[in-house]
Amino acid sequence: MRLDAIELVRVPMVLARPFGAAHSTVSTRDVLLVHVSCEGLHGWSEVGVLPEPGYSTETTDLAHDVLVREMLPFLRRVSDVTSADVGSIFADFQGRPASVAAIEAALIDLECRRSHVSFADRIGALRDTVAAGVAVGLHDETAETVAEVRGYVARGYARVKLKIIPGMEYELVSAVRGEVGDAVHLMVDANGSYHRSNASLLAALDEFSLTCIEQPFAVDDLETHAMLAGAISTPICLDESISCVSDLRQALDIGACSVVNLKWSRVGGVYEALRIHDECALAGVDLWIGGMLSTGVGKAVDVALSALPGVTMIGDISESSRYFAEDITEDFTMHHGRIAVPHDVGIGVVPLGERLLHMNARVYSA
Ligand code: MG
Repeated sequence: MRLDAIELVRVPMVLARPFGAAHSTVSTRDVLLVHVSCEGLHGWSEVGVLPEPGYSTETTDLAHDVLVREMLPFLRRVSDVTSADVGSIFADFQGRPASVAAIEAALIDLECRRSHVSFADRIGALRDTVAAGVAVGLHDETAETVAEVRGYVARGYARVKLKIIPGMEYELVSAVRGEVGDAVHLMVDANGSYHRSNASLLAALDEFSLTCIEQPFAVDDLETHAMLAGAISTPICLDESISCVSDLRQALDIGACSVVNLKWSRVGGVYEALRIHDECALAGVDLWIGGMLSTGVGKAVDVALSALPGVTMIGDISESSRYFAEDITEDFTMHHGRIAVPHDVGIGVVPLGERLLHMNARVYSA
């Protein structure tokens, strides 16, 4: 394809409530969208980055800067591009997986629209709906978390993920499990905030029948993950440690995890995400799809991926209203605890022009 337009669109958005994790607390999120067009058709995607470093070094401002100054002008100079080329075109842009992923996903959206297929069908999504799950950020008081969880469970969420940091985990998980009972799938995410020296704090969580403990230790510390996995009965899940399929193979080789949280932005794109999906299915590893405080544009891809056959656990797939009072697309809503997989052409949603306008979106053309 020869692209007619290549743009970055930056949309300042305020979260419905601040979201705290071990690395940072997010209360506003400038959403970055990549927009491409060809012969009157459009492709959109969202850059899965956060304002502060911590989850990854690729922050909103860094991604914006590199996309506008280097990557999108670089794409502009390619006369004939397909989504399959993106990985090799941007092979030299190390450390920018979410930016590369967004360019690839925008092209995939455009290609699907050109060939009149939905993204969900193109990737082989099997289900029409997926069960909704919610991630709950850190609060100063356990009672605040319990109250928030109570609200989500009342709305129909069947799976709740709690952010944890060392020292508060036992009281928190005990209080939440006491509140929701055994019917709700409960998991915790430490975002790498524990060390080998305080791993016993996590071992104490074994009594709560958690679905998994996600990324307890540092990104590059697979050995300590393997040590804990061998010592406790709760499954260990990796998020930040898995940036490509070879990371996954390495982690599985040493027994560092039995569950994977897959984010297409973290692994550099949808195609690598599909390879990781296939590898997990082959290895019998449980898999679920994570989110990045996504708007409807990013969520459309997350939801479709969640409907793949190898996704065995409920992911971070929540309603639009979980993060935003008003989304930039038509809202994703939940019915009986489930969210519909978009089956219209492309990713099935588009950012709505009037919403971008009154949200003061700014456009940067390449
Ligand atoms: Mg995580």
